[in-house]
Amino acid sequence: TEEKLQQTEKLSVVGHLAAGIAHEIRNPLTAIKGFTQLIGEENNNQYVDVMLSELNRIEKIVSDLLILAKPEIKHFERSNLNKLIDDIVSLLNTQAIMKNIEIATIFSEENMTVDCEPDKLKQVLINIIKNAIEASFKDGKILIETKWINGNKVLIKITDNGIGIPNDRLPKLGEPFYSTKEKGTGLGLMICKRIVKNHNGTIKITSKVNKGTVVKIILPKSQHSN
Ligand code: ADP
Ligand code: MG
Repeated sequence: TEEKLQQTEKLSVVGHLAAGIAHEIRNPLTAIKGFTQLIGEENNNQYVDVMLSELNRIEKIVSDLLILAKPEIKHFERSNLNKLIDDIVSLLNTQAIMKNIEIATIFSEENMTVDCEPDKLKQVLINIIKNAIEASFKDGKILIETKWINGNKVLIKITDNGIGIPNDRLPKLGEPFYSTKEKGTGLGLMICKRIVKNHNGTIKITSKVNKGTVVKIILPKSQHSN
């Protein structure tokens, strides 16, 4: 609808503006953080810890906004999707192990290639699996599956059995700064949506409260695969 279109346009203008501001904030922020750390090292001050933790929070928001600011040039390369997923899983496993969460993978085929910007696609997987870890209860399980659809697309399905999302909240996902977490930025899914769209793919989220969440990413199969 017209209204939805306007809303999307508004978000993109606001997004660019926010990203520009983030860029300007980064350098002074790095300086402030550095000097605050020095003050903390020189004398024990109870306020310094609070300042550092708040500075870390600003840093997180700024770095998320900067990801959104990156120009959308497409340097797609043929990549092995399963290997990419394995890399991300070993990266996030330390975080998962702390909550005793198991991350399992099921790849329907060994060679699944997609044309992508590997770092961008990794960013998508990191954001989604991190959300899954954060939503999981202790001893939870996260499953990552890949399989072909119709021989010309690839499905990446990430399932968790965590807290889930109420139905009326589902439309809010991917809106900038929508977060239910104390330390969340509410930018992760917005970044995912943007990147997946740039890869000519789709992303769908279904969920049941206290049962868990399923994120489905569909990407075109590599044009160069055999
Ligand atoms: P953030 O993680 O910083 O809060 P995101 O954009 O990554 O921002 O996610 C937005 C919100 O969507 C989260 O705060 C959470 O409420 C909800 N969400 C996303 N993924 C999941 C999930 N796997 N399970 C439950 N809720 C989720
Ligand atoms: Mg997140």
